[in-house]
Amino acid sequence: MTTIKNYINGDFQNPIKGNWIDNYNPSNGEIYGQLPDSTKEDVENAYIAAKSAFPSWSQTSLEERSRILIKISELLETNLQRFAEAESKDNGKPVSLAKAVDIPRAASNFRFFGNAITQFASESHESIGQQAVNYTLRQPIGVVGCISPWNLPLYLFTWKIAPALAAGNCVVAKPSEVTPLTAFLLGDICNEAGLPKGVLNIVHGLGESTGQAIVEHPDIKAISFTGGTTTGAHIARVAAPMFKKLSLELGGKNPNIIFADCDYEEMLSTTVRSSFANQGQICLCGSRIFIEASIYEKFKTDFIKKVKALKVGHPSESDTNIGALVSKSHLDKVKEYIQIAKDENGIVLCGGNEVKVKGYENGYYLEPTVIEVQSNDCRVNQEEIFGPVVTMMPFQNEDDVLKMANKVKYGLSATLWTNNLKRTMHLTNQLQAGIVWVNTWMLRDLRTPFGGVKASGVGREGGFEALRFFTEAKNVCIKY
Ligand code: NDP
Repeated sequence: MTTIKNYINGDFQNPIKGNWIDNYNPSNGEIYGQLPDSTKEDVENAYIAAKSAFPSWSQTSLEERSRILIKISELLETNLQRFAEAESKDNGKPVSLAKAVDIPRAASNFRFFGNAITQFASESHESIGQQAVNYTLRQPIGVVGCISPWNLPLYLFTWKIAPALAAGNCVVAKPSEVTPLTAFLLGDICNEAGLPKGVLNIVHGLGESTGQAIVEHPDIKAISFTGGTTTGAHIARVAAPMFKKLSLELGGKNPNIIFADCDYEEMLSTTVRSSFANQGQICLCGSRIFIEASIYEKFKTDFIKKVKALKVGHPSESDTNIGALVSKSHLDKVKEYIQIAKDENGIVLCGGNEVKVKGYENGYYLEPTVIEVQSNDCRVNQEEIFGPVVTMMPFQNEDDVLKMANKVKYGLSATLWTNNLKRTMHLTNQLQAGIVWVNTWMLRDLRTPFGGVKASGVGREGGFEALRFFTEAKNVCIKY
């Protein structure tokens, strides 16, 4: 059994009240460990450690902060296999995916922000005619809270922590209670890299208690949250009256728009990936596929053939394409949506059933599922399913598809497949999304702004946007 502990002031600690939560392995449905069911007392301890570390960390030179963050990155790379296996065990994703994407990306987050902070500059404005000069300081906020979800556990956890630390803040962080393992392992790496005690504190537990205590804490002055839209709205309600800085990265229901003039083979293989990577549990997955009517039947045949060839299997097998869903309750939720689709006259073109993987019959496996829908207004096109389920339907022209793409409460990302320049310019301009990919998907440059519009969130992560979020601007005006 693995016992996960809170990482507070550089030490590993049991929860003060002594309560624990079972941790499940989704690939076989078995309990493999326990994690703290932390309370507000644990969060308070983490806050006290962070507060006392802040004066020194905020004054640590940029070179030194950068050196430590890059060292963390290197240690993650050295421990790639161990972290990838841990991520897979906790989340159900194929080890191959965790090894190729999740852990390398977590390492990149630390390296990127370790470098970025050495290049981060503030502005100055000369007030000509008034004999004054203004310069803007970018000062760390103090103690900040970072709360992350289960789908890309270490990847999204570090996407917040790395810029927060680089900017000179001290952090109280909570990973998802469903996937705490790699965040726990990160504590040792931080100690080995020489991160001073109390600069990063990781408190494990439930959202409604541990997470809530972070959001409610009067002296944790900023919250960076990634998770569901409903949770984001709740956090905003709690944090807004305390005037906390808030960054909310929330759900998505992203359109994947395919025109007949695209590079077909590339579109086809990328669409399989953008539909089912990580069992479809990526906020950026293109879960609503719109296909130009002239190639609809061809696409349908070719896509289904490719999807049927995907192997659902144990995450540790190298030829597994689709691992286990993260939890039993999530599997049940996704299955409910498949039933809703049928009730709404959607046609299940492939998949739709649970899979019993030999030797792991209690794991949470589901076939990749493609549903043909009649209208963009149906629930499976309007609500986030967040599993290996995509819908598809034809469109007639640009205006038609633009209306459908935008007719949803979310606005995280959109993907467009076309070689027509005018159409590209028109649609990229008009699509209501924070990120638009043209002829690609999930190509990420960490310098670019990342986030959504509408119910997909508020604020932007990535690059200097993240460093701006994790600092307060103070303007100094000097008359001479
Ligand atoms: P949740 O919103 O349920 O949880 C996210 C995190 O918030 C978890 O750590 C959770 O803890 C915690 N939490 C829950 N309630 C509270 C609360 N009252 N106060 C403080 N923290 C709380 O999301 P999921 O973990 O289910 O993740 C899936 C969602 O995340 C999807 O909607 C997906 O689209 C979105 N997402 C968005 C991304 C983006 O960049 N826009 C990227 C990835 C995912 P616990 O786990 O213990 O409940």
